Amino acid sequence: MVSITAAVAREHEKPLTLESLELDDLRGNEVRVRMVATGICHTDAIVRDGVYPTPLPAVLGHEGAGVVEAVGELVTSVVPGDHVVMSAAYCRHCDKCRTGQMAYCENLFAQCFGGSREDGTTSLTSSGERISSHFFGQSSFATHANVVEASIIKVDQEVPLDKLAPLGCGMQTGAGAVLNEIRPRAGSSFAVIGTGAVGMAAVMAARVAGCTTIVAIDRHQSRLDQALELGATHTINTTDLDLAEGLKSITDGAGVDAILDTTALPKLLVAAVDALAIRGTLALVGAAAPGTEAPFEIGGSLVKGWTFKTIVQGSSVPQDFIPRLVALWKEGRFPLDKLIQTYSPEQINDGFTDSESGKVIKPVLVW
Ligand SMILES: [Zn+2]
Ligand SMILES: [Zn+2]
Repeated sequence: MVSITAAVAREHEKPLTLESLELDDLRGNEVRVRMVATGICHTDAIVRDGVYPTPLPAVLGHEGAGVVEAVGELVTSVVPGDHVVMSAAYCRHCDKCRTGQMAYCENLFAQCFGGSREDGTTSLTSSGERISSHFFGQSSFATHANVVEASIIKVDQEVPLDKLAPLGCGMQTGAGAVLNEIRPRAGSSFAVIGTGAVGMAAVMAARVAGCTTIVAIDRHQSRLDQALELGATHTINTTDLDLAEGLKSITDGAGVDAILDTTALPKLLVAAVDALAIRGTLALVGAAAPGTEAPFEIGGSLVKGWTFKTIVQGSSVPQDFIPRLVALWKEGRFPLDKLIQTYSPEQINDGFTDSESGKVIKPVLVW
């Protein structure tokens, strides 16, 4: 047992509190990580607010990056001193995990949101009080964590860890949707609706894939200006311009080959279908409340032969995909650091506020 400092979510919709906690001894399948940086993601905010039922009090955080301090006796992928990025946990034994589709793990909810190890125990206590741990296998809003090996990705030691923390969730989601699922052809057209962290990652990935028309769509002009710096060739500000008309005009009436939606707003999805090219693909990564529906036109659009698909975590195998994004970062082709604003652990609640207001695209805590 060691003493650590962590940000604890104690009550729904209340600020996190920085506290001293006890971290349990390592289990065989766990890796003790000294955290260097942790990204703040929308999912942390909705769990803090009780939208997903992770039992509170809990240590959240699921975009950790740090240095391995110790490994359990069953761990084979890393040794002490390795630099690692952390991603979502998966069970490794279900049909989806065994076929490389761990983003769709049948046990994903328990693995990521259960607040405990698989045996129901937690690694965190506060003077004996149970604190939920293992959020996304990691609970990385902390100076140290016992992380399940499935969440651990070894990365290049030359790259500063505070630049890499967001790779584990938002960046992987946006870049993976493009590079692993949509796989646009070089010279094709691509549009992304919503330019938060996920949408910006998609813009950078579309450029990597060789798309020659890359349209960023948002209501905030400052974000659209930033998207142009990251590789977008056109922008549509939906406060002044109709989405479908704007896309048709940019593509000379042909429509867009692939559109990625990060907003899950039905009105925008319907407009996107209208703006798709023949054989186009509309992909959804945005989360909506259960029961949300989007009414698609299926008469006239039949002959377009179009596709709709939903994508989780960029359909990536994190241990394969994240090192590839790091290699692209080193070449200057995936400059995610331009999206990052760093915060001290004491400023964690400011990071949440700035993310929610749209002032900062990707807040990152530096421990
Ligand atoms: Zn699984
Ligand atoms: Zn996330």
